[in-house]
Amino acid sequence: MTSMTSMNHFTIFPLRIARAPRARWRAAAGPSALCLAALVLAGVNGPLLRAADDAPAQPPRPQKSVEKTPKTPAAKQPTPQGATTPMPSPADNAPAADDLPKTLAEWRQRLTPEQFEITRMKGTERAFTGKYWNTKTPGTYKCICCGEPLFASGEKFDSGCGWPSFSLPIDGVRGKTVTEQPDFTAFMQRTEVNCRKCGAHLGHVFNDGPPPTGLRYCINSASIQLEPKGEAEAKPAGK
Ligand SMILES: [Zn+2]
Repeated sequence: MTSMTSMNHFTIFPLRIARAPRARWRAAAGPSALCLAALVLAGVNGPLLRAADDAPAQPPRPQKSVEKTPKTPAAKQPTPQGATTPMPSPADNAPAADDLPKTLAEWRQRLTPEQFEITRMKGTERAFTGKYWNTKTPGTYKCICCGEPLFASGEKFDSGCGWPSFSLPIDGVRGKTVTEQPDFTAFMQRTEVNCRKCGAHLGHVFNDGPPPTGLRYCINSASIQLEPKGEAEAKPAGK
């Protein structure tokens, strides 16, 4: 290789760096190593070379990927053990699952604003304001959205928290009729409970309940409707 070819290469070199992708640059750099060495020895300043050496080993990655992993693992809701067994038949006059509203707009039409806000938007009624927080009437508490029986008055206890509280769901099984999922909202880690049949938000379950379960299902009055024992239709609960 003559010094003339070295000079020719030097003059076109910057263009090649600017345009060539990394892989091609590396390939081109190999055969030119002698030429580059000659340049360095000749006292040519080497910012170009250093730039190449300091270049990241891989092309810069896009800063942020489009996909975002949702924080709440709602999709990873654990499957309760009884999931493979057929669900108990719905309550007497409860609508079949197929008849339930499919969209929020349809739910909004069916429910009162408070019921919609709490059951479909995961709201919470203020303590000591709900219809059932202090109710002692025997009966069955059904989902306000779909009519599914969720809690029995026998498991209701006075928690003093201002919301109707139950030590177990009506089927006596955790995570079946009333499903559970982690809830990381409001700067807390809680366990949200929902109606399995229609997905209505009911409230949360805590581990500070009375024995033997030690559970406290803290439920919004607006999410449930009491059907007093022996009556076909629920009537407004008198305090
Ligand atoms: Zn429901």
